[in-house]
Amino acid sequence: MTLNEQPDAAPTDALITLDTAWIVRWIRQSAEVLAANRTALNTLDRDIGDGDHGENMDRGFQAILPKLEGLAVETTPGAVLKLLATTLISTVGGAAGPLYGTAFLKASGAVGSVESLDAAALVALMTAARDGIVLRGKAESGDKTMIDAWTPAVNAGASAHAAGSGVGAVLLAAADAASGGAQATDPLVARKGRASYLGERAVGHRDPGAQSTALLLRAAADTALATE
Ligand code: ADP
Ligand code: MG
Repeated sequence: MTLNEQPDAAPTDALITLDTAWIVRWIRQSAEVLAANRTALNTLDRDIGDGDHGENMDRGFQAILPKLEGLAVETTPGAVLKLLATTLISTVGGAAGPLYGTAFLKASGAVGSVESLDAAALVALMTAARDGIVLRGKAESGDKTMIDAWTPAVNAGASAHAAGSGVGAVLLAAADAASGGAQATDPLVARKGRASYLGERAVGHRDPGAQSTALLLRAAADTALATE
């Protein structure tokens, strides 16, 4: 195309991609949302665990913020996901640190060294993240863990992509499904993690990790939709 030629049509949503700047915005937004929900996540974890999930997640996402300041311009989305993974592994602790760390390490591997992410790449990223958590924690759907938010999110994102949706709609579908999945952990008995020690007493309480997953995916959708 020469300088005077116009593209045939404005790019449709399906052609919009998300770059490193979006990943950085997503992490910053996540840090803000997790800080705001620190007490609420601690309270959920106090009901069926040891009360530290909000603290753990807040610590991890605050720890990456200064590292985002000095990123080289050529840093890929995958490299930022890897930085997030290593930061969470070294700062979050508990069950959630290695689980989210593995998730984002696998997500980083899934997107490779591309400069921006299309809808297919986002589905691959979320699928790899979920598979990483399963590999590490061996939870199945219905065990009352963060997997109960991730799996519906992956499925909804994949369906939206298959139906021709672009990045914003794929992430919105994933975020909505993750929120629904987190809510659906309320009536479950836990079969993994600390909550599994409680038996029936876990019934009626939301899984904190499923709730933090829903918050992270909501931040992803919000920042992507703000980009469009
Ligand atoms: P800890 O339980 O060590 O205090 P956190 O409170 O930070 O760690 O995280 C608890 C969350 O981790 C749970 O709400 C649950 O979602 C998740 N979790 C625990 N064990 C597993 C597992 N085996 N697979 C998937 N998620 C798990
Ligand atoms: Mg805990």
